Amino acid sequence: MTATALDDGSAPGQAAARPGGMTAGQPRFDDVPLGEEWHSPLYAMACRQFARAADVLALEDEVRTRLLEPRRSLVCNFPVRMDSGEVVNYTGYRVQHTLAMGPTKGGLRYAPDLGFGECAALAMWMTWKCSLAGLPFGGAKGGVRCDPYTLSAGELERITRRYTAELLPVVGPDMDIPAPDMGTSEREMAWFYDTYSQSVGYSVPAVVTGKPVALGGTVGRHDATGLGVVFSIESAFEELGWSLPESRFVVQGFGNVGSVAARELHARGAKVVAVSDIRGAIANPHGLDIPAVLRWVAEHYYLEGFPDAEPVDGEAMLELDCDVLVPAAREEQITEHNAPRLRCKLVVEGANGPTTPAADRILAERGVVVVPDVLANSGGVIVSYFEWVQSHQKYSWQALEVQERLRTQMRSAYDRVRATATDLGVENRTAALASAITHVSEASKLRAIYP
Ligand code: GLU
Repeated sequence: MTATALDDGSAPGQAAARPGGMTAGQPRFDDVPLGEEWHSPLYAMACRQFARAADVLALEDEVRTRLLEPRRSLVCNFPVRMDSGEVVNYTGYRVQHTLAMGPTKGGLRYAPDLGFGECAALAMWMTWKCSLAGLPFGGAKGGVRCDPYTLSAGELERITRRYTAELLPVVGPDMDIPAPDMGTSEREMAWFYDTYSQSVGYSVPAVVTGKPVALGGTVGRHDATGLGVVFSIESAFEELGWSLPESRFVVQGFGNVGSVAARELHARGAKVVAVSDIRGAIANPHGLDIPAVLRWVAEHYYLEGFPDAEPVDGEAMLELDCDVLVPAAREEQITEHNAPRLRCKLVVEGANGPTTPAADRILAERGVVVVPDVLANSGGVIVSYFEWVQSHQKYSWQALEVQERLRTQMRSAYDRVRATATDLGVENRTAALASAITHVSEASKLRAIYP
């Protein structure tokens, strides 16, 4: 597997004639006016990635417009009584990117800087992720602008229940199915499930995934995203002829994705030389004892102070010497500023949107291979789909079945991306999006336009 140069360095959408007939004279995607409401730097980034794949596919303008703009969105402001007795107004969002593929699917994010544009970008990425994985869903994303780390459990419960009530007109087991994302977990999904069920008068487990197993969640959902990242790494290693025990990894982020990926890599004999959390990074060139790091975090909450490691600046850790970098924290971490200095040979994206388009170009020029987010972190939504199927079937699968189906589904998505990359002569991100967009645009065209 080799990195394929992005193009002649032109801006996205500006590419000259391409196989399939797109010419430089056609409208540039960047120029299409976007609804002000959801326009934001992250949404622009998702559009740029889309534009490049759409150019390669010579996608008709009519389909582009339909796939670019979020199909349905809800923004709400709602009051919540805090523990102090004070009433605070919170803003919540839910963006459904396309309704062409079936119900919509995607997580709920609780973050102090959450905005409409961020949800719109993440919803679009969910569409490509679901399509690439062959799931019968369009993408969605939502959440509440709040800082979950400063709120009590009671306050978070009241926020979640009220937000769920606000979402009642647009969610449902065959309409839109939320799941955990940054700042939310099984606990919030249990509250969501209960509030929805109370409002309709009976239990509806298929309205949300990532629920506790005791409430009809599936075994294996908690670890699915991190494990899926490792399955992607195994697929890439097989193709590259690399060996896990001989390779060094840097994992940015030690949440649900990064910690599981680090644990699974360590269990397979790989050396995880650095990990980080919001306070900073710790590194050990001989490899960190990840089970000991996990025990430390269970007790101290942060990585800070872990013995047998050196503290490293959170940004500098991305530039440490390693074979594989796994960004599993936030978006826009690999940019044009640090991409020239990265010392890894492979980037496997555990987070959504960690690499900017400018950084993508630099990495491609430098021969650094990227396994993109929509492929590498799709394990979470794939197992969410398994959970939704089980909730509908009222029948639970065994852990081994969940894991083996996840492995098979991720492997076939990986193979599809690599085959598309070869066919179209593009790097993996564009190949993944091209493959996903082809499927969604076909469905959109078949459903045609009503009335
Ligand atoms: N929030 C996860 C993601 O970004 C999972 C979404 C889901 O399971 O629906 O992929």
